[in-house]
Amino acid sequence: MGLIYLDNNATTRVAPEVAEAMMPMLGDTYGNPSSLHVAGQAARHAIEEARANVAAMIGAEPREIVFTSGGTEADNLALTGTLSAHAKMRHVVTTAVEHSAVIEPARRLERQGYRVTYVGVDAQGHLDLAALEAALDDDTAIVSVMHANNETGVLFPIERIAERTAARRIPLHVDAVQTAGKLAIDVRRVPISLITLSAHKIHGPKGVGALFIRRGTRIRGQIVGGHQERDVRPGTENVAGIVGFGAAAELAMRFGVDSWAKVAALRDRLEAGILDRCRNASVNGDRSMRIPNTTNISFEALEAEAILIALSEAGVCASSGSACSSGSLEPSHVLKAMGIDDRVAHGAIRFSLSRYTTPPEIDEALVRIPAVIDRLAELAPARV
Ligand code: PLP
Repeated sequence: MGLIYLDNNATTRVAPEVAEAMMPMLGDTYGNPSSLHVAGQAARHAIEEARANVAAMIGAEPREIVFTSGGTEADNLALTGTLSAHAKMRHVVTTAVEHSAVIEPARRLERQGYRVTYVGVDAQGHLDLAALEAALDDDTAIVSVMHANNETGVLFPIERIAERTAARRIPLHVDAVQTAGKLAIDVRRVPISLITLSAHKIHGPKGVGALFIRRGTRIRGQIVGGHQERDVRPGTENVAGIVGFGAAAELAMRFGVDSWAKVAALRDRLEAGILDRCRNASVNGDRSMRIPNTTNISFEALEAEAILIALSEAGVCASSGSACSSGSLEPSHVLKAMGIDDRVAHGAIRFSLSRYTTPPEIDEALVRIPAVIDRLAELAPARV
């Protein structure tokens, strides 16, 4: 067996059906979707078909979908676009464990004089809902929370959060990059104003995403120069990417959220096998409130970077939440917010499966991973 790819929260392989749907856009369907002639209208038609599929994935109307260059842009647009539209309101509520695509814009807003509340989590990664509610005030322009954490997979109760924000008429933005297509999200039922989506986490192409903007939500585009995407995101559309996103959404819906139980069973087998066979292994985050494809496992007293390199050499792709800064590995801000000891956080590895992960791959991973961990533990006996 060759490479075992267990890094699907970083990105996924493009599904063959997606690549096939994109090919005409790189060939004969090359018109500018804003052009009135037949070549342009063919591209326009392809975009609108894709928009309908992406919208259907979350129960939205097609006109509520604005395509962007990815999840990062959609997150930025949600925050800064909302604040631009509510000029007098100066407070943002988010969480301490968001993806950098939310955390970094929030920090920049703070530098610009906005007030930002970062609501904390407990040791299991659960949001402090009471603290979130207490943070809301008349000056709060937006609440931005992720649906599932990209590092641990732990879910936030977006329905309960939406009840509270809707009661105060505060727009709620949900970063659903890791959950769309995996869990049911229905905007007809849950009063969320804005949702971030990204194609490459659901077997679509990289560099394309979307922001769901509920009808009536006040938001202002952050770039100017054209009228595409209802003026909110001008610029000639990434036609091939958008068509690929639409095909990926359609495939995800066809697979169905119920089928993820099979992926969860494989993830659970991987997790149980690692805990059984590896010394000093422990799971980070609540195991009962997670997306079905993710497990975050710490190998105490080992360094994530060394583990990842050794795993890669052994043909297993995984990842860590750590960022390498000035030569030293900083523990992930997510694990830090959960109060996890540095010795444990430094050795945290995220394994994330896809709907294409097979049982034989998990069997083989359970041979390769313990062998790597054993070897590293022997190399650093004094530290174990
Ligand atoms: N939000 C979350 C939760 C993510 O996991 C990611 C990607 O890792 C992003 C946003 C950014 O999405 P993109 O890579 O499409 O910019």
